[in-house]
Amino acid sequence: MNVCYQNKDLECVNRSSLDSIQTAGLQFSVAQALKTKFYAARLKGHVSSPEDIRSLNDLKRIPFTTKDDLRESYTDGILATEFKHVVRLHTSSGTTGVPTVIYHTQKDLNNWTELMERSLIASGATCEDIFQNMMTYGMFTGGLGFHYGAEKLGILVIPTGSGNTKRQLQLMKDFKTTLVHATPSYMFHMASTMNEHGFSMKDFNLKKAYIGGEPHSENTRKKIEELFGIEAYNSFGLSEMNGPGVAFECVYKTGLHVWEDSYILEVIDPQSGELVKDGEIGEIVFTTLRREATPILRYRTRDLASVIPGVCPCGRTHRRLSRIAGRTDDMLIINGANVFPSQIEQILMKVPEVGTNYMILVSKDGALDKLTVQVEIHSKTFHGDMSELGVLKHKIKDELKASIMINPSVELHEPGSLPQFEMKAKRVVDSRIKI
Ligand code: ADP
Ligand code: ZN
Repeated sequence: MNVCYQNKDLECVNRSSLDSIQTAGLQFSVAQALKTKFYAARLKGHVSSPEDIRSLNDLKRIPFTTKDDLRESYTDGILATEFKHVVRLHTSSGTTGVPTVIYHTQKDLNNWTELMERSLIASGATCEDIFQNMMTYGMFTGGLGFHYGAEKLGILVIPTGSGNTKRQLQLMKDFKTTLVHATPSYMFHMASTMNEHGFSMKDFNLKKAYIGGEPHSENTRKKIEELFGIEAYNSFGLSEMNGPGVAFECVYKTGLHVWEDSYILEVIDPQSGELVKDGEIGEIVFTTLRREATPILRYRTRDLASVIPGVCPCGRTHRRLSRIAGRTDDMLIINGANVFPSQIEQILMKVPEVGTNYMILVSKDGALDKLTVQVEIHSKTFHGDMSELGVLKHKIKDELKASIMINPSVELHEPGSLPQFEMKAKRVVDSRIKI
């Protein structure tokens, strides 16, 4: 395996030196945080100056920051620099309430770009690649984050943004695109509509896909790799921590290396707030270490994952996160049982007769909750008559029941008949009355 680094000394640094880097970063972030209205109030009685941070043990003295804290600080409650030094802001979509805002100085953007370049190099990308960026540009961080990192590496970037599948395919063919960045749902959408747009896999020169932005299973990765004949790498990030480039897979694809010179990673029990052991799933908490304009301390992401124990064959010492198992806020409680949509996806994607699209519906059936899983079947399995597929339906139902301990109702649908998603998929429709 050909392992390349952006900065081998930093990526393979020993853990005690990394501790020192993180301690200095935390002191910097606390100094910046104390300049903001939000943290000046929040840190009172906990930490009053960067000198209070003598080691990483002092992290515990800092209270957590939540999404609601960020919302309440809109628009400038967490701004540590003067406006004249800020060169960009990104806000979250705000579809679930008041938006949140993250500001960047030029130095912040340079650091983000450096992390994205590092991530691309870690996955084996080089300046010879041709990169089609199929994530939305603009406020959404996926587009611009990858764009600048790829340009810094000297890659030819085709900034298509999301959607317009026919044009995406045409450009992929015309410019012999080797790398793409898209949500897993969009990769599936492209694969399933390729024929109707007049293309086939042999028209392309694709080598790698960066897939992220939404939870997906190992089976989904494999399916994408097989469909396109490529390597697919998991890319993880969130706008509160810049966007993409927080954690990324290296060529070994053994989990997401968190760039720990730029972020402190904690994995906690969401109830008690205590650290969980390596290998145990908990809520991911991040602290920025280098951001000047909007420092964020101990941010509760609501994403659930575990630290993968042991070291990666690539030699990087930055710890690895497992795939995101779900979010504390996407857990469905169905007749008292906890179900994560990712559990359902994992089962569906390993059934070969299942296509690439599904929906999860939760409704009320009298006093009880009802779970319906709608599944598109694979075009190779569909011969025009859905009534032939009773056995398959039972197989899926049994597999789901064994995994989630709930008996779902399974509906099979023709290929291409369920809603398609160009960006983050919204596959769960919960129509129960919320109290
Ligand atoms: P929003 O929170 O408004 O959707 P973001 O673009 O910041 O905006 O989304 C970040 C979230 O997307 C993460 O917190 C996580 O839940 C999800 N996400 C991003 N990348 C991945 C990935 N590779 N695997 C699983 N979930 C991901
Ligand atoms: Zn590695």
